[in-house]
Amino acid sequence: MEALIPVINKLQEVFNTVGADIIQLPQIVVVGTQSSGKSSVLESLVGRDLLPRGTGIVTRRPLILQLVNISPEEQRKAAGDDDDTAMWKNYGQLYKGIDAEEWGKFLHTKHKIYSDFDEIRQEIENETERVSGGNKGISAEPIHLRIFSPHVVNLTLVDLPGLTKVPVGDQPRDIELQIKDLILRYISNPNSIILSVTAANTDMATSESLKIAREADPEGRRTLAVITKLDLMDAGTDAMDVLMGRVIPVKLGIIGIVSRSQLDINNKKIVADALKDEHAFLQKKYPSLANRNGTKHLAKTLNRLLMHHIRDCLPELKTRINVLAAQYQSLLNSYGEPVEDKSATLLQLITKFAAEYCHTIEGTAKYIETSELCGGARICYIFHETFGRTLESVDALGGLNTIDILTAIRNATGPRPALFVPEISFELLVKRQIKRLEEPSLRCVELVHEEMQRIIQHCSTYSTQELLRFPKLHDAIVEVVTSLLRRRLPVTNDMVHNLVAIELAYINTKHPDFADACGVLNSNIEEQRRNRLARDSHSLSRDKVSGKEGQVPNGNPDGATAGNWRGMLKASVSKPDEGPSEEKPRLPVAPGSPHRGPAVNFLDVRVPVSRKLSAREQRDCEVIERLIKSYFLIVRKNIQDSVPKAVMNFLVNYVKDNLQSELVGQLYKSMLLEDLLTESEDMAQRRKEAADMLKALQRASQVIAEIRETHLW
Ligand code: GDP
Ligand code: MG
Repeated sequence: MEALIPVINKLQEVFNTVGADIIQLPQIVVVGTQSSGKSSVLESLVGRDLLPRGTGIVTRRPLILQLVNISPEEQRKAAGDDDDTAMWKNYGQLYKGIDAEEWGKFLHTKHKIYSDFDEIRQEIENETERVSGGNKGISAEPIHLRIFSPHVVNLTLVDLPGLTKVPVGDQPRDIELQIKDLILRYISNPNSIILSVTAANTDMATSESLKIAREADPEGRRTLAVITKLDLMDAGTDAMDVLMGRVIPVKLGIIGIVSRSQLDINNKKIVADALKDEHAFLQKKYPSLANRNGTKHLAKTLNRLLMHHIRDCLPELKTRINVLAAQYQSLLNSYGEPVEDKSATLLQLITKFAAEYCHTIEGTAKYIETSELCGGARICYIFHETFGRTLESVDALGGLNTIDILTAIRNATGPRPALFVPEISFELLVKRQIKRLEEPSLRCVELVHEEMQRIIQHCSTYSTQELLRFPKLHDAIVEVVTSLLRRRLPVTNDMVHNLVAIELAYINTKHPDFADACGVLNSNIEEQRRNRLARDSHSLSRDKVSGKEGQVPNGNPDGATAGNWRGMLKASVSKPDEGPSEEKPRLPVAPGSPHRGPAVNFLDVRVPVSRKLSAREQRDCEVIERLIKSYFLIVRKNIQDSVPKAVMNFLVNYVKDNLQSELVGQLYKSMLLEDLLTESEDMAQRRKEAADMLKALQRASQVIAEIRETHLW
């Protein structure tokens, strides 16, 4: 069966590559009646004298004979040349000095090496006797023997006790059944080939071995019939009919052989001579059938059966290899090619990174994150959700209480008691409120800056994977972008600071929205006041009130009713005339006035004033609060609009536009080339491994194709 060795070895190579279990070759099991020549058949298949044979019951325990193909290299190790090999070192003592090409090992004698096959045969006999006794007893407990040789295929042969009818010696009364059970146990394994042995000098029609083989393999797919002892047929008879399959057909074939007789064994006839004699015998007796019989043909037939088995396993193996090859190919692709033109590669990587960075901001990146917002989308979120909401939550009057307002009004009037609510107090207070917008605006810059920093990581992990090959370049790019971002931070912060400063620099009371708002407010107040006056007219001195009242809404040169905010200040000034009144501090709420509700509530809730405010004070505060609110909303809107614009211009767009040139300027230098493009050890190693694996897989694929086309004969 040596023809299979190269195939199996090639396959082994394939298996080593893909990490698959070796294809399990079928076990070959011999079945037959006692002394029909089973052990002799097995022995001639192995080509070595190693099994006890003889008349009577010789094989009394199953013998599981594992043939292990060893390469010459392994042999050298085994012989003790290579002391370093740990596995052999342990057994070094035992292995040293083996100069035999082949040797055997029993499971039950542990590490003992048998290089003398006579000794092996002797050990089988001893071991059989040890368990089954000296008096023809049998045992189901198998003997395990391994033969290591460069001339065998990895194959398992099973020698079994023969079928018998009548118990002899120590044999139990149900010996027939026991042996049948034992045989069935081995041959019902679907991965076994049954060699059904029948001696030519018995009637094949009554063959016990074929009978039992059929029990296990009714369709005869794995049963091969072997007719032994062709030389022992009675004079005048021949096995023509049997061998031609005319007596009993056997699908896989019927093969007649001649093994060594007891005399041959006694005379120590060697296998080679036996084969020669067998050939001569067949030529002489069965010339027409000579090439389809004999031990050699039996071996070939078994080879073919094993080969079929191997071929049946190949498609699955092939699929597995193809899948693996595809996986490794894509892995290899992701590692990129080894660098040839370093300068071009560097420029290309830098450009690619810069482009990816910009794409991520613009939302045109190839890899779009689905688990969370990133890049441009996140910046948008920061502007409109985070920043926008924060600004909206900044209350126009937050942090201001009535006392502050009153104090500001008083301070602004100086030593003289004031007729009007001083303008300066409004400016002072509104500026104080506007200042509160700066902090969230700067926080917005910070958040965008953080996101820009995060995009770097995003680009190098997802979009520009090749970059991971060059850790130094990766770090350098991160460094350049980070420092560019860091440089832009103060510039952007300054701008944002200035945006607030600009608002503080000039309180534009002529702002159309402010004037409009004051107009609405003013007329509301006027209206309320008139209503109140109308209500009070009966109890209050009429001329006093009407005298002053008349002027304000009508011919006031300051245009109080025309929506001028000063009108409001003046309007409130007229109130002292009413004197300290017992009027509730709360004004009636006019539906539809946008600013009134909260302001009133604000007053209600927030003022833990130690003394009660005079009506005038209350009104002054109210007016100031309304003005602050109105003006603050205008400014807040401006800031909400201009901060994102500034951030875009000074940070985001600037970095986007200058990234490429910044990177090229700092990194694209011939003296940096070598260093930046040093591949990570890891990557070079991984690429090599993947490439090797791919090559091995391609070779494996080729091996499989070859095996499929191999004809053994
Ligand atoms: P087993 O009991 O079935 O294992 O049979 P063995 O292989 O032990 O053989 C039994 C006896 O028959 C031995 O003495 C063999 O030498 C002998 N024998 C086996 N095959 C042949 C054969 O083809 N021709 C001759 N002349 N003797 C054989
Ligand atoms: Mg035997």
